Amino acid sequence: MNMQQRRNFLKALGVGGAGLLAPSLARAAYRPEGVPVPTGAYGHVVVVGGGMGGAAVAKYLRLWGGSGVKVTLIEKNPSYISNILSNSVLYGKKTLQQLTFTYANLAKNYGINVVQAEVTNIDPISRQVLLSTGARVGYDRLVLSPGIQFDVIPGLETAAAQTAVPHAWQAGVQTTNLRDQIKAMPAGGLFVLTIPAAPYRCPPGPYERACVVADYLKTYKPRSKVLVLDANAAITAEKNNFTKAFSSIHAGVIDYRPASTVLSIDATNRVLDTNWGLIKANVINAIPSQRAGKIVTATGLNNATNGRFAGVNMLSYESTVSGAGGIHIIGDSSATTQPKAGHIANQEGKVCADAIVRSLVGQAPDPAPMTNSSCYTPITMSTASWLTAVYAYDAPSASMKVVGGAATESTSINQDQYQEMEKWFANLMQETFS
Ligand SMILES: Cc1cc2nc3c(=O)[nH]c(=O)nc-3n(C[C@H](O)[C@H](O)[C@H](O)COP(=O)(O)OP(=O)(O)OC[C@H]3O[C@@H](n4cnc5c(N)ncnc54)[C@H](O)[C@@H]3O)c2cc1C
Repeated sequence: MNMQQRRNFLKALGVGGAGLLAPSLARAAYRPEGVPVPTGAYGHVVVVGGGMGGAAVAKYLRLWGGSGVKVTLIEKNPSYISNILSNSVLYGKKTLQQLTFTYANLAKNYGINVVQAEVTNIDPISRQVLLSTGARVGYDRLVLSPGIQFDVIPGLETAAAQTAVPHAWQAGVQTTNLRDQIKAMPAGGLFVLTIPAAPYRCPPGPYERACVVADYLKTYKPRSKVLVLDANAAITAEKNNFTKAFSSIHAGVIDYRPASTVLSIDATNRVLDTNWGLIKANVINAIPSQRAGKIVTATGLNNATNGRFAGVNMLSYESTVSGAGGIHIIGDSSATTQPKAGHIANQEGKVCADAIVRSLVGQAPDPAPMTNSSCYTPITMSTASWLTAVYAYDAPSASMKVVGGAATESTSINQDQYQEMEKWFANLMQETFS
């Protein structure tokens, strides 16, 4: 980081000096049964974002830190809608309600103080976050897990255009909007899916979506086609299974085109201007390129991947921006060699919680953390494949490296794995939110 960047960071982070409160070192009084008595670790950790990373880190800070570690989880929404399995809303297998998780169990089972508000700024000097309500909350350690924000595709600047051409890459109204558009497609229609250049959230996700939409269209909208315009030079994850899916299971329906460029989209007429020429579609699902959540970029913590994501120390997930000591960034916002995925965000939450608890008792972080990424992928409306990898810390490169050199894909695509996927999802969400 150069001097100008450091100045910008400190400027962006400053929220003024008036009325500052001291970080709370109070011993938390409320101790549910599952939370151990004080372990010797004392402090107040504020977690911003109650998604896959934030919920996990909050829970494990209490479980491993004990009741001396007070945890405040600040989340802008009243509940969390899972992106994981949200593609199954598109073909009617799941509802958003079935993918919605509240924070009641985190509060009840672990004594986490859950606050519904948006964090709008951070003051690293006085160690406070500023909330949309105007309140300030002091911290000893701060963990940010705000997910991603989207870049704007030319032509899709307005809210109306983004409704006409949804990304559905943040589960919620965009998901049901896309579902309804697919449902209203005529037989023999064209569905166009655009994939941004990596890194983006959930590497196999867009290919999975192409597959399940193709399966739905085959069944309900005969003769329809799925055109996949991928900005990447090749399929970015689970290449064997998707190659098989595109070239045999969904042959004649999916037209996969790597190295594609989308110049702009005319949302009113549903026309894409691309390196393949003008393409008129019935439904366009355009997934924009992504960057770290707004609070990360607004406060200058986005010092990696050409300013798109946050550089972190892989032993603690602490920011590598100088002057940002005590601020940790996990999940999709961080720049790591691990995929931007919910399962990994949960794992990063645990590594980060462990490092923070150790630091509160004056210990160094675990010098050799390991994480696991697992993902089931629906290939049709009733069959699935899977992809998994174990990552281990590699000291010379200071990064997480895949054990064995590459992720492992399932060698078959079948119905049993679809059932296993439901169990994996239930376990992961239970593990994170209960
Ligand atoms: C279609 C699709 C399918 C997917 N499938 C899988 C899968 O099968 N397996 C898998 O592992 N991953 C999957 N993912 C990826 C996964 O959803 C993300 O990687 C994961 O949710 C990232 O966790 P996170 O904590 O970084 O962000 P999120 O889970 O997005 O959580 C961020 C939270 O922060 C809150 N927030 C943001 N800013 C603020 C602020 N300033 N103040 C307060 N709150 C704030 C948001 O409201 C949100 O609740 C999928 C994603 C998509 C889009």
